Amino acid sequence: MSLPSLAELENVDGARVLARLDLNVPVRDGVVLDDTRIVAALPTLRWLTERAGVVAACSHLGKAKGARDPAYSLEPVAAALESALGRPVLFVPDCLDPSAANAEEGSLLLLENLRFHPGEKANDPDFAARLAEPYDHYVNDAFGTAHRAHASVEAAARIYPRGRKAAGFLMEREVAALDRVVDQPEQPFVAIVGGAKVSTKTAPLEALVGRVSSLLIGGGMANTFFLAQGLEVGRSLVEEEMVETARSVLAAAAERGIEFVLPNDVVVADEIDNTGRVEVVASTAIPADMMVVDIGPEARALYREVLSAARTVFWNGPMGVFEVADYAAGTLAVAEALAASLAFTVVGGGESVMAVRQAGVIDDIDHVSTGGGASLKFITGESMPAIVALES
Ligand code: ADP
Ligand code: MG
Repeated sequence: MSLPSLAELENVDGARVLARLDLNVPVRDGVVLDDTRIVAALPTLRWLTERAGVVAACSHLGKAKGARDPAYSLEPVAAALESALGRPVLFVPDCLDPSAANAEEGSLLLLENLRFHPGEKANDPDFAARLAEPYDHYVNDAFGTAHRAHASVEAAARIYPRGRKAAGFLMEREVAALDRVVDQPEQPFVAIVGGAKVSTKTAPLEALVGRVSSLLIGGGMANTFFLAQGLEVGRSLVEEEMVETARSVLAAAAERGIEFVLPNDVVVADEIDNTGRVEVVASTAIPADMMVVDIGPEARALYREVLSAARTVFWNGPMGVFEVADYAAGTLAVAEALAASLAFTVVGGGESVMAVRQAGVIDDIDHVSTGGGASLKFITGESMPAIVALES
């Protein structure tokens, strides 16, 4: 089975199209703070608006709890979309308003937050049927939600037969790039995983151990691996309950004979906001009264070297508390190493993408995923509900 593409849509000219996008952008006081996801949706929206009669864009926003909540209204996104596209966007205050599809030929609509209805997260087939009913075609470009079995991406996609449903350009690009990492990646395949916790990344870690030639670890999660190796980590962020998991990942790596690298040295501080002492120490000598905030210079150099020999790289999770300038060196070094690499490079994860942008190298990475959770799920090799439903 393959993902149906926009070109496969039959009789799309003049048709009414429901377009599920990921417009889950940060909004504060009615202002969109970061329009990355809006910009990422534009190619598909342009393609559709040039052909279809009525395009109804829909999305979720934030953690709305199945009822109307003004804090999570998509109305500010309509304004941002309007200026990004340079054309009017008609905001529809209820995603289930059946009269919306009767808008004037050539209209682009933005339907209100799908999560204002409990049926969205419940993957309720009746909700999906009511959402889809007014529209002839269905397009899903919401890669960031592809790992969730929610009505607008799962049940709704199943309603439409092939020829009347498609993945958008962003979905296609994400899947193609991540496929290159999951499906027989060119070796050496090096994965570099950091971020706060092991618990949020256990499945991807376990999957990567089976596919990479080297796995480099950084960030807060390294501390839990240190514990698993019997080292002391002082006041560092750790997950005691994940030590067993860390041990089994270490054992799997040893069994597979892959290179599993923890930082040899680390930056430690006594205050997370950098108002106190900051030192570089060996990972075997972390002071009891301090906490790990970044990988050290030796680790940086080694990681750079391993990355430079790679043919495929997947990076998720910062190497340290990069939000604090003095603790950002490890994360920036990795960003720069990826940018300089001749390998096929993929970055996924909310904070990792921020770090790549902060390092000013976003254009030198082959693929920067718009879906943090979705890209991690994809990496595990498990099927994604939205993709399975599109292919059905
Ligand atoms: P991503 O969003 O890229 O998947 P995560 O959400 O897993 O990444 O983790 C990002 C967070 O991890 C960052 O906000 C960073 O400050 C934090 N972090 C990284 N290293 C450490 C550390 N040593 N101690 C505490 N927090 C850390
Ligand atoms: Mg994150």
